[in-house]
Amino acid sequence: MIAQTLLLFGPPGSGKGTQAKRLEQVLRAVHVSTGDMFRDHLSRRTELGLKIEHIMRAGQLVPDTITNEMVRERLLKPDVALGSLLDGFPRNIPQARWLEVFLGSRGFGLRGVIVMNVPRNELIERLKGRALKEGRADDADVEVIKRRLDTYEAQTAACIGFYESVRRPVHQIDGVGSMETVTSRIVSALGN
Ligand code: ADP
Repeated sequence: MIAQTLLLFGPPGSGKGTQAKRLEQVLRAVHVSTGDMFRDHLSRRTELGLKIEHIMRAGQLVPDTITNEMVRERLLKPDVALGSLLDGFPRNIPQARWLEVFLGSRGFGLRGVIVMNVPRNELIERLKGRALKEGRADDADVEVIKRRLDTYEAQTAACIGFYESVRRPVHQIDGVGSMETVTSRIVSALGN
């Protein structure tokens, strides 16, 4: 059986991470979150963590060479042979092209793309709430939040067009509603 990869797209605050954790169970796929991996480097103060700290705090994208290499190492681990759920990667077209080549070279299939849609004003409210609850430095400042949303709209949303152009299934999901409702929308879009 070939390992299938599912991509989860959505702006910051759209609930991607939450849904990825829930889908991990349903789909029996390994959740790979580049944001979580970078935050882990930050908290362990690794060499990589120190290098990316100012970039993440400013709400900017970590350079592709660093990100792609970290993803490559992760996707070479044996557990992803079951299938993986990528959350936060790719985030721009060069990363998407890199991933196509990488998956092809490993003989992994790309099952499709899930796009979570939530209106911008609701996203800003959710992220301000998350800053209070979880204390994420990049959620604390409204200007940084807006920059991350702009980066998503300018770069990440373009990846969706890329996947449509290479004829990968793209499932648009309404991300407004309870956690359970959104999970079942995703599961039914995937035909599970
Ligand atoms: P969010 O989608 O809520 O902004 P993430 O947890 O996915 O949060 O990512 C947090 C930060 O980690 C991003 O703002 C960015 O600095 C960095 N990051 C995560 N994934 C990538 C990626 N694929 N490419 C570049 N930077 C990334």
